[in-house]
Amino acid sequence: MKAFEKNIRKVEPYVPGEQPQHKVIKLNTNENPYPPAPGVKEALMNMDVDRMRLYPDPTAGNLVHTLAEYYGVKDEQVFVGVGSDDVLAMCFLTFFNSDKPILFPDITYSFYKVWAELYRIPYECPALDDNFRIVKEDYYKENGGVIFPNPNAPTSIYEDLDFIEDILKHNQDVIVIVDEAYIDFAGKSAIELIDKYENLIVVQTFSKARSMAGMRIGYAISNPILIKYLNDAKYSFNSYTMNQTSLICGVEAVKDKAYFEEQVQKIVDTREWAKEELRALGFEFPDSKSNFIFVTHPKFSAKKLFEALKKANIYVRFLGGARIQEYLRISVGTREEMEMLISFLKEYMKENKGEK
Ligand SMILES: *Cc1c(COP(=O)(O)O)cnc(C)c1O
Repeated sequence: MKAFEKNIRKVEPYVPGEQPQHKVIKLNTNENPYPPAPGVKEALMNMDVDRMRLYPDPTAGNLVHTLAEYYGVKDEQVFVGVGSDDVLAMCFLTFFNSDKPILFPDITYSFYKVWAELYRIPYECPALDDNFRIVKEDYYKENGGVIFPNPNAPTSIYEDLDFIEDILKHNQDVIVIVDEAYIDFAGKSAIELIDKYENLIVVQTFSKARSMAGMRIGYAISNPILIKYLNDAKYSFNSYTMNQTSLICGVEAVKDKAYFEEQVQKIVDTREWAKEELRALGFEFPDSKSNFIFVTHPKFSAKKLFEALKKANIYVRFLGGARIQEYLRISVGTREEMEMLISFLKEYMKENKGEK
């Protein structure tokens, strides 16, 4: 080992789902199968390339204002970043500075652990119950902050706002972050609670329901005080995080509410159809309120199914790890893509006996 190596920060990185460069049925990273709103394409075609000489607006003013109007809050209540991963990382850095451990579920978005370790934040991971539900009482003890997704990922389970409020009521002395990456496929957003709980931050993204994972846009909504702390932290080391193209396209995506709602509805309909088909094939899964289904099968090994699907150019996600070794996370694609998935599974199950 070289002498300098002892001072190098070593972290176990997050491993993202594969992005194959050849054409596959891609159901492995919860992207939206439909294109962004038509206004996004138009904005790109009319882009003023000369403006790229200039730095983008560091306040992301237009995008912030458009989001504020959409959610009926003030501009000072919106923080934007390069995907919600950037927003969440900034939240960890800004708000989780206690000696007490922050809390998040044992089965959840695996980036939380990566950031906690990167920023040297102590953490504890209360176990989900046997049905993969969050046990809210586990979050009533003393802690340095709370974060969880709603719907949770990869379990796909949505908890209603009474549940969220119970956690907030028991955690008034710390920051509580609700990561709503999949909320548009589910139910009510906790955004309506931000005036009532001054310690609440709600984080959302353009990557899932808004079909813009490639543009990297995420945002947090909270009260002006917490949003200012986030902006201060951001401006202290990198003011120009969001590029001009994303800022312009993001505005166009938010403006077209009708298109957005139509695409979301299509995915929800396909999800409900796919649930029935998967159930008929013997799969078991929590009742998904997101754009993915978290399945297990009493007879077939998840890992083997994952590999067989991949060979057939159908990519789903095998996360592995404690308690979910026998689960696959299947993103909801178009109806046609899901039909191909189902017909592959039917064939596979006819030809194979199952390993369990
Ligand atoms: C996809 C996802 C994110 C991150 O999305 P970005 O593309 O970085 O906006 C954050 N949290 C959860 C739970 C997710 O599934």
